[in-house]
Amino acid sequence: MPERWWHSLRARFETAPIPDPLWRRAVSHCPLARPLPPDQQVQLRHLAALFLSRKQFHALAGVVLDDYWRLMISLQACLPVLQQGAALLRGWREVLVYPGELKVRRHTHDIDGNTQGTLKPLACDIWERGPLVLSLVDVQLDLEQPWDGCNVVVHEMAHKFDMLDGPPDGVPPLTNISRRRWITQFELAYERLIEAANRGDSKIDAHATENPSEYFAVVSELHYSQPALLREVEPEIAELLEDFYGKSPAFVA
Ligand SMILES: [Zn+2]
Repeated sequence: MPERWWHSLRARFETAPIPDPLWRRAVSHCPLARPLPPDQQVQLRHLAALFLSRKQFHALAGVVLDDYWRLMISLQACLPVLQQGAALLRGWREVLVYPGELKVRRHTHDIDGNTQGTLKPLACDIWERGPLVLSLVDVQLDLEQPWDGCNVVVHEMAHKFDMLDGPPDGVPPLTNISRRRWITQFELAYERLIEAANRGDSKIDAHATENPSEYFAVVSELHYSQPALLREVEPEIAELLEDFYGKSPAFVA
């Protein structure tokens, strides 16, 4: 039956509205969303509803994921999409939520051949069209300490944007920003970070030194969670990220 087929297809893509009490509760507990002006909150609610209807959440290893936590993850995932819209959400479907911290101990060898242990977020190993991988503990910690420079949801979403136009290279699709300016400024900033890290006086998390893609993800976290530090250390990058993401919620209030 063509008509029935059309109805089932429409139902599949229909966006279920977020109930008012649930939305108000989530926003009031999300310091990054709370300062947004009313029009942006309306837009965020629309995007979060879209995210909830298009992405499949999987709670793993005993995680209990209720409507509140699904929404809390969705609305943070949509914050970096506010400026450019739902097109940035394309290309992948699943959200995997683990209970504990997603860090694995890796072993690297220094120039003398000694083995050193470093910690790296496991989620960053998962690339391309794969799932968004999060730890509920990290998400909860970011809500408790919103201005400490870390936000795991923003970090992983930045990787997703980065991969929309090919392998991760720290350059997401750019519409209103000069690609040449982005690449030049990010290369210079990345080199400055490597030098600062070698001197031992870097103000940006060492995870950003791994490669340009991690650099982009880490400074994206700073844009939302500690933008004053980013402006102080890398004003050009702060400006480019403001063009890409819009004004940081920390500066909207
Ligand atoms: Zn990463």
